[in-house]
Amino acid sequence: MRKILIVGAGQSGLQLALGLQAQGYEVTVMSNRTADEIRQGRVMSTQCMFGTALAHERDLGVDFWEDQTPRIEGLGVSVAAPDGSRPIDWVGRLDAYAQSVDQRVKMAGWLETFVERGGKLVVHGVTVGDLDYFARAYDLVMVAAGKGELVSLFGRDAGRSPYDSPQRALAVAYVHGLAPRPEHPDLHAVRLNMVPGAGELIVIPAFTTSGPCDILFWEGLPGGPLDVFDGVKDPREHLRITLELMERHIPWEYDRAREVELTDAGGTLAGRFAPVVRHPVAELPSGGLVLGVADVVVANDPITGQGSNSASKCAAAYLDAIVEQGDKPFDRDWMESAFARFWATAEPVTKWTNALLGPPPEHVLGLIGAAGQLPAVANRFANGFDDPSDYESYFYDPEAAGAYLASVAGA
Ligand SMILES: Cc1cc2nc3c(=O)[nH]c(=O)nc-3n(C[C@H](O)[C@H](O)[C@H](O)COP(=O)(O)OP(=O)(O)OC[C@H]3O[C@@H](n4cnc5c(N)ncnc54)[C@H](O)[C@@H]3O)c2cc1C
Repeated sequence: MRKILIVGAGQSGLQLALGLQAQGYEVTVMSNRTADEIRQGRVMSTQCMFGTALAHERDLGVDFWEDQTPRIEGLGVSVAAPDGSRPIDWVGRLDAYAQSVDQRVKMAGWLETFVERGGKLVVHGVTVGDLDYFARAYDLVMVAAGKGELVSLFGRDAGRSPYDSPQRALAVAYVHGLAPRPEHPDLHAVRLNMVPGAGELIVIPAFTTSGPCDILFWEGLPGGPLDVFDGVKDPREHLRITLELMERHIPWEYDRAREVELTDAGGTLAGRFAPVVRHPVAELPSGGLVLGVADVVVANDPITGQGSNSASKCAAAYLDAIVEQGDKPFDRDWMESAFARFWATAEPVTKWTNALLGPPPEHVLGLIGAAGQLPAVANRFANGFDDPSDYESYFYDPEAAGAYLASVAGA
């Protein structure tokens, strides 16, 4: 059977490894951390995944945490005014529920499953020099190492990368004890709280190493009032600042958060990165080729919560492309065409995410405002998180947005 190497044990690498393994391929995974190190380490994401991405996991039978994890059936938007009121506040219903399983739980569990099923795991931080050798030893080498140093192999695609610096400062805290939302206490929903000119607070029900929890996730405009987490090393201090900002900017969320405590000492994360699309194929000094996977080639800002979804869709697209290739070589043409399959879903994600990073144009404010009166608009906007290609037909163009609103209002 064909020998395949996957570098990186994250959403895309492990989903792909488990999928290939189930089809009988001889798969090696190289990870810079063991399962226990991942499980006991720091949180890495907020990883909210919507229906299509979750279905890929279900298809492989690796949705091990589905029954324990809160089912997110809505997606809400609130806009804060300086006086602490919220002129916009609504929740749309998702057609298929979303879920967020802490990557520490999922990746550690998947890595163990991969090994239990006979997969070969090498715990090693792979270097560019290593890859040169591996490209000769395997039929196919895929780099699924996230935003790590190996991305330097893959050139930036300037035409698809409008930003060359981080657009948000990210600060995540996993908590227990968040009170139910009074407006809909029985409905789990992701909430995107916008603070115009400052950034966003995203609140996500999730499942972590100690059970169900919530994630408080600040996205701050660089240099603005929410960009204050750099250098904060103490997790308790991180939570204190998170709550202080909530009290000042999003008081309705703060009211729910008065009793919260961190899930664990690894339950906070802060950082920033520039969104980027890279060329999918890297050529090594000896002429060998490697294929970039998920974040390695398409790293979007998490404001729209799409990276894990895209990683799952990328793994599914590459799995199909590998199986269809049969015994034929995994050459440059094949690699480019495998990426093109992924890009078909990643392009609308990238366009929409980059659009949300800028100040909203008038017609977008009109759409978001109208969703408060028109549940059909709220529901459609919410379900776009599962399939952002739907925004193409009404979100970007003022005339199309106006026509869509008129059609809903007149219905
Ligand atoms: C703050 C934040 C919030 C987010 N929230 C969401 C969200 O709500 N929804 C969503 O869909 N996405 C979200 N994302 C994005 C999502 O986490 C990523 O897009 C996704 O994890 C990418 O998967 P991946 O497989 O490409 O890489 P990763 O999940 O990053 O996995 C890469 C793996 O490779 C390993 N590795 C790195 N270098 C090497 C090396 N040299 N050798 C061996 N192993 C190596 C790493 O340790 C890691 O285990 C968020 C991201 C951040 C930062």
